[in-house]
Amino acid sequence: MTLEHYSMGIGDRFGMEGVAQLRALQRAVDGGVTIAPVWNKSFREHSIIGTGPQDTLRAVQAAVAAASWTRPYYLDADHIGLKTLGHFVQACNFFTIDVADMIGREAPAGDVSAYVTSMARFAGTLRIPGMSAPIVVDEPLLRSIAAKYLGAVQEAGRIYRSITSHLQPDAFVPEMSLDEADAPQTPAELFFILAAVAREGIPLQTIAPKFTGDFLKGIDYVGEVPLFERDFRDDLAVVKHAVGLFGLPANLKLSVHTGSDKFSLYPIMRRALHEAGAGVHLKTAGTTWLEEVIGIASAGGEGYRFVQDMYQDALGRYDELLKPYATVVRIDRSRLPSPAELHQWPAEQFVEALRHDQSARRYSTDLRQFIHVSFRIAAEAGDRFRDMLRSCRSDIEQNVTYNLYDRHIKPLFIG
Ligand SMILES: [Zn+2]
Repeated sequence: MTLEHYSMGIGDRFGMEGVAQLRALQRAVDGGVTIAPVWNKSFREHSIIGTGPQDTLRAVQAAVAAASWTRPYYLDADHIGLKTLGHFVQACNFFTIDVADMIGREAPAGDVSAYVTSMARFAGTLRIPGMSAPIVVDEPLLRSIAAKYLGAVQEAGRIYRSITSHLQPDAFVPEMSLDEADAPQTPAELFFILAAVAREGIPLQTIAPKFTGDFLKGIDYVGEVPLFERDFRDDLAVVKHAVGLFGLPANLKLSVHTGSDKFSLYPIMRRALHEAGAGVHLKTAGTTWLEEVIGIASAGGEGYRFVQDMYQDALGRYDELLKPYATVVRIDRSRLPSPAELHQWPAEQFVEALRHDQSARRYSTDLRQFIHVSFRIAAEAGDRFRDMLRSCRSDIEQNVTYNLYDRHIKPLFIG
């Protein structure tokens, strides 16, 4: 199973937006760009919503049939480890092997020595075609990379082999993710991580490093865009070089994670990918949920009342909702409207504050991030929420398709 040149992780927490998402991808096909859809939903999202991977599979299969999508599609066991992979093996054909927590975990001393010895052939000035600067490689660098990453890559090997005890190696796409690490990986680190991956025998098709800057939920990139550009271009050069040198799968590509909307990065990434002839896996994740809220609120009447009630409940449970997302949101609570204020706002005002249109006067990154993490409240509302999802169908689908195509696919893949 070989993942396509372009693919997109499209989360759909409540499993109802597959058709609207495929419409966006179909528009890309009509415009000459094929992007493989990868439905991702993590163990945490499943537990909060009370679903399992089999539910996602059913929803996806129904959407694929309804939208007459005839191209490949994938189901992602998103951010799994040894403990959680068992839930996903029956339903998934894409595995995001998450070893960010294992960074810094010591590998056996003999393994470290063997790794450092084998990497000694790169000692000196290492020039990688397309990279902005050479890497100066010496033993301390190799030892520090081994100390940080060798244990993590070995864990990825254990997870990979555990998946292959259930599935044939050609029945799934393996990805390794490090994006939930505390610190970004440098392009030099990425090079030696890929060397370790090859030694571990993992036929990796995508790798998700942590990039420089802040990728906060649902909002634009926060950071130095030129620094991101330099690292992203260097990472593309590293991946291309590593494939030939280490015998990794020819389609190995970068995977850009995070629930950030990354709008200011898309034009830069598009140019860099084009110039390098590189593919990419892009995750857009939970923003479909925000389009659902926008669609329900836009419908006005009972829909907007539901959203106002949900907001009030969510604000009352602020700390609890924020806790799992503490490192990936930055909300100024004083800038969130009180429930009483929100009751004064007309639906259009709320929608304008929530929708990711940075040119809109009332757009609020605080409100947007807060609603992003409030999906637990909707999940708990059960049938009342599902009824809303059904009764506001056309408002929601219009927003889901527009958001995915016009705000993500077009700037990154089409231009
Ligand atoms: Zn991730």
